[in-house]
Amino acid sequence: MLALLSAMPDEITAVVESLGKVSTQTLGRRQYQVGSFRGEQLVAVFSGWGKVAAAATATQLITTFGATRMVFTGVAGAVQDGLAIGDVVIGTELIQHDMDASPIFPRYEVPLLGRALLGTDSGLRARLRAAAEGFLREDLRRSVSQSSRDWFHIESPRVIEGVIASGDQFIDSAAEIAALRHSLPQVTCVEMEGAAVAQVCEEYAVPFGVVRTISDAADESAPHDFARFAREVAGQYSFGILSHFLRER
Ligand code: SAH
Repeated sequence: MLALLSAMPDEITAVVESLGKVSTQTLGRRQYQVGSFRGEQLVAVFSGWGKVAAAATATQLITTFGATRMVFTGVAGAVQDGLAIGDVVIGTELIQHDMDASPIFPRYEVPLLGRALLGTDSGLRARLRAAAEGFLREDLRRSVSQSSRDWFHIESPRVIEGVIASGDQFIDSAAEIAALRHSLPQVTCVEMEGAAVAQVCEEYAVPFGVVRTISDAADESAPHDFARFAREVAGQYSFGILSHFLRER
């Protein structure tokens, strides 16, 4: 069973509708939609926002729905220099930037797991990368309006692979980004769920892949950009990337 988890409520709806929905089950205020695509069983759900919500949703996907692979989509704020709104990051590893149980455990290390960086599955990573590149190459111009592309200066967006940081904060100041860059220089982008899902998948030995579209620069303009991007662009990206992902397997 493939689980599709999204941090944007509407993304999942569009994907599931296009697959032919089979049934919806509501648990813990979340709607799990079960369907199939080319004979493959799928379960799709909005993760909620923040690490606790996302971890609870991921756990339910595994223990109740029997997820054996998990793919997570959503948006994120740019941290790495040169990363622009509309670019796509495929996560190689994830880190909880607000985890600090020092001096008992080293800063960032997940207590009792013995490490700070949580990995992703190389097969899912390669498929997500191909899917994101396919979407940008073939469908971007058709799916995202010219006015939205112009507003966000989305001209020739890139797909990169890199480390994603997660924490229970919406990052929206130059000072916060500078602090993050200083303490975790390898981080490409920041969001609020991925590393929590990665931890659950690690603990249950479920292969995990994550793709994040850059929605904002994590600075003072982030709240405004985030809202507009979420309305006009994020759903189109996720739907397009997931469609390619499912087609190209
Ligand atoms: N304040 C927002 C909601 C915050 S949740 C609102 O107006 O509704 C933001 C979602 O986008 C989360 O899923 C998070 O993972 C992601 N995200 C995008 N940009 C982010 C940033 N700059 N910092 C943290 N999370 C971000």
